[in-house]
Amino acid sequence: MDKGDDQLYPAGLRLTGRRVVVVGGGHVAQRRVPQLIAAGARVVVVSPEVTPAIEGLVGEIAWEARPFEASDLDDAWYAVAATDDPAVNDAVSAAAEQRRIFCVRSDDAALATAWTPAVGRAADLVIAVHDGGGGDPRRSAAVRDQVLDGLREGTIVATRHRDSGRRAGVTLVGGGPGNPDLISLAGRRALMEADVVVADRLAPREILGDLPSDVELIDVAKLPRGRSAQQVEINRIIVERAKAGLRVARFKGGDNFVFGRGYEEVIACRDAGIPVTVIPGLTSPVAVPAIAGIPVTHRGVAHDFTVVSGHLAPDDPGSLTDWDAVARLRGTLLLMMAVERAPDIAATLLAGGRPASTPVAVVCDGTMPGERTVLSTLGTLAEDLVAQQVRPPAIIVVGDVVAVAHPERYAEQGAEHGPGPADG
Ligand code: SAH
Repeated sequence: MDKGDDQLYPAGLRLTGRRVVVVGGGHVAQRRVPQLIAAGARVVVVSPEVTPAIEGLVGEIAWEARPFEASDLDDAWYAVAATDDPAVNDAVSAAAEQRRIFCVRSDDAALATAWTPAVGRAADLVIAVHDGGGGDPRRSAAVRDQVLDGLREGTIVATRHRDSGRRAGVTLVGGGPGNPDLISLAGRRALMEADVVVADRLAPREILGDLPSDVELIDVAKLPRGRSAQQVEINRIIVERAKAGLRVARFKGGDNFVFGRGYEEVIACRDAGIPVTVIPGLTSPVAVPAIAGIPVTHRGVAHDFTVVSGHLAPDDPGSLTDWDAVARLRGTLLLMMAVERAPDIAATLLAGGRPASTPVAVVCDGTMPGERTVLSTLGTLAEDLVAQQVRPPAIIVVGDVVAVAHPERYAEQGAEHGPGPADG
């Protein structure tokens, strides 16, 4: 029988609690095992040696550190022959055939009795693409990726015809620092599946253009002014919509819990008995310096980084920050919402003992088309902000990591900002 011409019969396997034997412990096995674990299978890897990644899974899987024996397949439901030795794979195939167990082969699809499709998940669907055993896995993977992209971006619309998977409630979606590619897959999916999206000014707005046309979009920037009145109104809207049985996505820039008032919304929902899901976002004090090429920590230079809101002046009675303590820190300081108060903050840090030569980078509109970095020092920050006409949003990075990223600018300062001799 010419197995290569056989037509494939597609099926999904329920492997929960069932013994699945993977023979081989190299890179093929390493790719298969996590999906088998995710399916709840009782995975046994048989191989004299395994990769460190597989060894790290021991506990979730069993590892028999020895050559394959036919009896390994006794009681198994499914087998994966994933060694680089065709003779061993043949032995696995033969033992599987004898026991009527379906067997995948990494080396020769024509000899296999089962094939692993290219798999992906989006919009609660499992997408499995097969080339029918034709031996072109990259083609299947490419088609899978295009289907997934289509589902995530909404160009393929996955309308639900049964509402069983639907759950009213509020999802807090962190959108990342601004570039629409920097939202998480889960965040993007929550937006595309929402009935109502409540979006902030700093949320990555390009993504909103991809929303299905029947989604209600509420733009918070257009709500009545005044920070606390606005928040009360947002809480009211999300609770009211969720109570009406709708799925609400609360979409913000960065992470909702980093100066995003996200937990006030959690409390409002909790008080109203509305379920809340949280999808974290890349927060700007970490992501924006990274995109600008500045690390927030560096071996031998900074063993801590501190994120501080600069929306109040340091001497403001309402400030909750211990600025004397902040000034004594030696690591990286990341200031948010601080463009306006930066001169006061720099003066406070200098008075508290930070040297005037401390490098400072101001990264404006991070990850967005107009991104720009202004290099300065604590001593000259106030005048540089004016001279360079810096406007929010910006992250102000204070500390020697800035000199690590821009040695040309701070070279004249020499050892003062280089790695300490005892550091390592
Ligand atoms: N929740 C957001 C922060 C909201 S506070 C987060 O986790 O990132 C708003 C401040 O975030 C701005 O004043 C600015 O300091 C910073 N910020 C947010 N996005 C930024 C960006 N793309 N570039 C520079 N700073 C940004």
